[in-house]
Amino acid sequence: MGMGNMASKSAKRLEPEAALKRSKPKSARKLLAPAKSTKPSRPWTLAEVTEAFRRFRAANPEPRGELAHVNPYTLLVAVVLSAQATDAGVNKATPALFALADTPQKMVKLGEPRVRDLIKTIGLFRNKAKNVVALSERLVAEHGSQVPRTREALEALPGVGRKTANVVLNMAFGEPTIAVDTHIFRIGNRTGLAPGKTPFEVEQKLEAAIPDEFKRHAHHWLILHGRYVCVARKPLCEKCLINDLCKWSEKTVAA
Ligand code: SF4
Repeated sequence: MGMGNMASKSAKRLEPEAALKRSKPKSARKLLAPAKSTKPSRPWTLAEVTEAFRRFRAANPEPRGELAHVNPYTLLVAVVLSAQATDAGVNKATPALFALADTPQKMVKLGEPRVRDLIKTIGLFRNKAKNVVALSERLVAEHGSQVPRTREALEALPGVGRKTANVVLNMAFGEPTIAVDTHIFRIGNRTGLAPGKTPFEVEQKLEAAIPDEFKRHAHHWLILHGRYVCVARKPLCEKCLINDLCKWSEKTVAA
C-alpha cells in the first residue's frame, strides 16, 4: 500500500500537460499555450459545432485510437505508458510486454525489473514500470483484477490521472468522455472551439459545446485532426475539413 501511495504521487507527475509544462523548455510550452494572436474572433455557434462534427463523422464514422491493446487492462497500461510518449513508440514496446502479461496478475508476477526492461525504449520508463506494477497490484487487491468503470476508482490508481481515466472510460467502456491531450488542447484554443488555460477548462468547454450525438467519438476525431491536419507547427489548413468554420486568424490558407 505504501508503495502504491508513493507511486500514486509520482504518477500525478506523469499527467502529460502538467508534466510537460514543468519539464519542457519554453519553446515546447508555447505549443501548449494559446498564442495571443490566435484569439478567436467570436465563439462557435451550435450550428457550426454540429456542422464540424457532422463532417468529421462523415469522413470517419468509426474513429479508432492508435494505442495497441487487447483488453481494457492492456489499454489502461498502454495509456499510462503513453504519457509524454508517442503512441507509435508505445506500440513498439507493448507487444512483447502484453505477450507476457495481459492481466494484472501476470504483470505482478513479471515484476518491476522485467517490466522496466521491456519498456525501456519509452520515456520515463522507470517511473512507468513502477506505476504499472503498482496499479496491477491494486487491481488484484481491490478490484478483482478488473479495470474499474468509475472515474474515482480509476484516478485512485498509481499513474492514472484525469486524462488517462477519460481515455479508458471512453475506449474501454464507451463513455462519452473527452480526454484532453496536447492535440485537443491546441485545437480547442486555436480554433476557438473551446478556449481554456488548462486541459480541464478545455475539457469542460468541449463537454458543453459538443452535442451529445457526437460526444462518444469526439475525442478521437479531434485527436486525429490534431495529429494529421491541425498539427502544431504548420497546420494543413488547405486540407482541413472545417477550414470555413475555424476561427483562427492565422490560417495558412483561408476557406
Ligand atoms: S483551418 Fe487550419 S487552424 Fe483551423 S482547424 Fe483547420 S487546420 Fe486547424
